[in-house]
Amino acid sequence: MESHDFERLKAHIVPLSNSKSFETARLEWDLVGVEISEEFDQCPCGQDILEHCYIRNRLNGATTYVGNVCINRFVGIDTGNLFEGLKRIEADLSANANADLIEHAYRMGYIYHDKEYRFLKQTRLKRKLSAPQVSWKKKINRRILSKTIVRRRGAHQAR
Ligand SMILES: [Zn+2]
Repeated sequence: MESHDFERLKAHIVPLSNSKSFETARLEWDLVGVEISEEFDQCPCGQDILEHCYIRNRLNGATTYVGNVCINRFVGIDTGNLFEGLKRIEADLSANANADLIEHAYRMGYIYHDKEYRFLKQTRLKRKLSAPQVSWKKKINRRILSKTIVRRRGAHQAR
């Protein structure tokens, strides 16, 4: 299947899991963060990636990361339009975060309270915002980006 080597991915994930079978081992993992880096890294499948999906094993606490294709296709965690949303606000700080990004950012604690969450949801499809709304949105987007865009290779490896 293209350059995604499923056997290599399995050989990485199964030893970190409690189950010895990939079919159930993959169910032990949750998405705990995403990052876009500017330099290529490698998914355990061997594919070069810029989009990192950090995952944590719910049963034994192990952590690792895989690329955006493998997390959807093989691990079975749907990241939806999360990365599209991130790229959109990276290109334009006043852009609207999409629904997947808002949910993810809230779950990760990048959105501090319900008021911010509601504001992002309510203005998600709005084309015109007032000046204070634009500055509020920029402030939240800047915070989301600071947690998810990695400028230098290696920064994410320090976790
Ligand atoms: Zn992969």
